[in-house]
Amino acid sequence: YAIWVIFSQRRYSEMQRDFINNMTHEFKTPLTSIQLSSDYLSKQPTIQQDDRLRRYTELIRSQYQRLNSQVEKLLNVARLESGEFKLKSEDVDMHQLLEEVLETKGAESGIEGRVFNKDFSAKQVHVMGDRTHLGSVVSNLLDNAVKYSTPDQPIDLVTYNTHGRFFLDIVDRGIGISPDHQKHLFKKFYRVPSGNVHDIKGFGLGLHYVKRILQMHRGDIEVESELGKGSTFRLHIPT
Ligand code: ADP
Repeated sequence: YAIWVIFSQRRYSEMQRDFINNMTHEFKTPLTSIQLSSDYLSKQPTIQQDDRLRRYTELIRSQYQRLNSQVEKLLNVARLESGEFKLKSEDVDMHQLLEEVLETKGAESGIEGRVFNKDFSAKQVHVMGDRTHLGSVVSNLLDNAVKYSTPDQPIDLVTYNTHGRFFLDIVDRGIGISPDHQKHLFKKFYRVPSGNVHDIKGFGLGLHYVKRILQMHRGDIEVESELGKGSTFRLHIPT
């Protein structure tokens, strides 16, 4: 039985590795071509001078971003579960990382014009971790804050230190989450049932990924939320 279990696990992890490789090849490669060509197109004078062509090119670019971000989310979770997942350990300045993520986000469609109030009070901002994954963590949380609130509701980003840890609160004033659902949020594929609550689409993978990555950094994430009032996602990592 033990041998059978070992062999099935190995087969499963090989399938997982193949899935990641195929997904990367079949989705990421065409996406990169779309990105490069639409970037090139959007810079052409013929396109810039014609309103309609410019709009279509913008549409291709914004839909590229949307598709790419979903593929990244799927890939991140698949990678997490493959035995080969490794985190880098480098010095990361969290304030600098936040600024970078905000800058990239600012250029994405659907986010322009959103108000982010920054209250960066943390003094110890250096953590040891994987810059790319920590960036994806922040990016996922910002995406959610934007997705589950309306453009007139500002989002606060608050940083501070306690007990040798770096804290980041992401506070939105959106739809909020009832206590029944709060305890399940970080489970894989969990989404607050839509129907009469909300009809915003997603895979329910983001928060699962966020929690796993933070725990791998000896950190964690908690949520405080009230239905109809908004949510605060609070993450912390040792400095
Ligand atoms: P997704 O947003 O792709 O469904 P997530 O794992 O990021 O997946 O989030 C899981 C669920 O938690 C969401 O479906 C949503 O119901 C709820 N949620 C997450 N963030 C927020 C938020 N800021 N406000 C309200 N609900 C949220």
